[in-house]
Amino acid sequence: MADKIFRVNMTDLSTSIEDVPAEWAGHGGRGLTSTIVAAEVPPTCHPLGPNNKLVFAPGLLSGTTASNSGRISAGAKSPLTGTIKEANAGGTSAQKLARIGCKALIIEGQPQDDSWYSISLKPGEITISKEEKLVGKGNFAVVEDVEKRFSDKIGVISIGQGGEMQMAAANISIKDPDSHIRSLGRGGLGAVMGSKKIKFIALDSGDAKVEIADPEAFKAANKTFTKALVDHPVSQALGTYGTNVLVNIINEAGGLPTKNFSQGQFEGHEQISGETMHDLIVERGGKPKHGCHAGCVIQCSQIYNDIKGNYKTSGIEYESIWAMGADCTIDNLDQIAEMDHILDDIGLDTIETAVAFGVAMEAGVLAFGDSNEMIRIMTEEIAKGSPLGRVIGNGAGNVGRTYGITRVPVVKNQAIPAYDPRAIKGIGVTYATSTQGADHTMGYTIATEILGVGGKADPLSKEGQVELSRNLQIATAAIDSTGMCLFIAFAALDDSTCLPSLIDMINARFGINLTANDVTNLGMTILKTEHAFNTAAGFTNLDDRLPEFFEIEPVTPHNAVWDFTGEEIDTFWNF
Ligand code: SF4
Repeated sequence: MADKIFRVNMTDLSTSIEDVPAEWAGHGGRGLTSTIVAAEVPPTCHPLGPNNKLVFAPGLLSGTTASNSGRISAGAKSPLTGTIKEANAGGTSAQKLARIGCKALIIEGQPQDDSWYSISLKPGEITISKEEKLVGKGNFAVVEDVEKRFSDKIGVISIGQGGEMQMAAANISIKDPDSHIRSLGRGGLGAVMGSKKIKFIALDSGDAKVEIADPEAFKAANKTFTKALVDHPVSQALGTYGTNVLVNIINEAGGLPTKNFSQGQFEGHEQISGETMHDLIVERGGKPKHGCHAGCVIQCSQIYNDIKGNYKTSGIEYESIWAMGADCTIDNLDQIAEMDHILDDIGLDTIETAVAFGVAMEAGVLAFGDSNEMIRIMTEEIAKGSPLGRVIGNGAGNVGRTYGITRVPVVKNQAIPAYDPRAIKGIGVTYATSTQGADHTMGYTIATEILGVGGKADPLSKEGQVELSRNLQIATAAIDSTGMCLFIAFAALDDSTCLPSLIDMINARFGINLTANDVTNLGMTILKTEHAFNTAAGFTNLDDRLPEFFEIEPVTPHNAVWDFTGEEIDTFWNF
């Protein structure tokens, strides 16, 4: 069956299944969500109003047997940043959507009354239903109930209370193969889904499969590609310690933002490190190695059990552990895992929410290190929508403005993640110039600056950092379009067989002849499309700046400051 565009209009509750316009045919994942948002969403619209659209798209290779190809992209105008936004996640939804034959699901309009709805998709079929039972419930209850109504094979995309209350830190949750939660984390897309009054989307692909134009060529390319992934040493470290392997590494580099970005090292780093977490997981009968979707061969995820050996959370990332840990000076992994579970349930981005807590701690709303109070505020204030809960649930910038704090680590109002840009400067260029606000995944210079992948760059020097960030942002935009997990980038940068075999798979899937140049051009086109949307929304190069405190407050242990001029940053767009 040919791929189609599935469209849902929430104003008049109509649906349609349309042919794919020729200009969208070569896109998938982020390339497609950004192309559709740029084409159909007025850049100056209110992100929570009827003119914004929420778009889901599987990657070009999602639904196939290609290793690590199960990432789903969601796009819209972001209520957090006001920019175009793409978030991506693992789980089962990308594979289900692709097998349903849905190249993109576009949700537009807004209901005229206060009713809530669910949507279900099958091959060739869209159903909109009224939903009452699950309104007000967290994501775990939603997944459990939807599986009972349909089957445990169903894919589920949902929002928790955070999305229902249209909080700017709200994420969209994706069911994983174990019926746990993965998150389309950044940019408040859960609030956009909430504004359209959709509690969940159920995906039933039945036994439908994705068609492959040249199955033999596809199989051969996948074999080469998979070998490149599993052989790379960073893939192996990720499979042992998860992304949390980075706590000790980034702390050693002096770039682990601590106590609301006032220090670059955390004295409790050992207690929250990947090594400590690994041993704890093994001791409690959890799984240190686990995939967020079927077909992942790196498996950086894990199953974290509590002290009694019962499941607590999974896929707990370095960035989440850093944000709730070092940034809030909490050195207890069990408390961090508890908070990770709660935020998954409410449906809030762990980075945005925990950085917001760090700013609230700076303001004296609660004490640094007080994890019990954090847990109380999450469950009793945020989940219930109290005034304090809404202040924090609307993100770090909102907390800073509410309490008059000047050390507020955001770019375009999105919280800066787990790498201090004063001590690791290339990632600062990515934060400043990304089309999506501060986001390490948009151009992960840490690979080269800290891990020595794809060459070397001195993290404390400005030299070559704009070029490094630019090259990685272009490559990332292309990778985000394939449905591939970003962690294929380590092998792609170091192993000469990796990228060609990825391109071979795309060619074999669609019967086309893409070249490496085509892929680079695709990445450039996506960035320019996103940048043009932001410009039309009112953003200028003056928005591509880090907060002032990075320039005037040196960070220990290197006493480094952010020292790029605006003119230097602006050269990023010279391509
Ligand atoms: S490497 Fe990690 S993030 Fe990537 S697909 Fe596998 S489990 Fe998911």
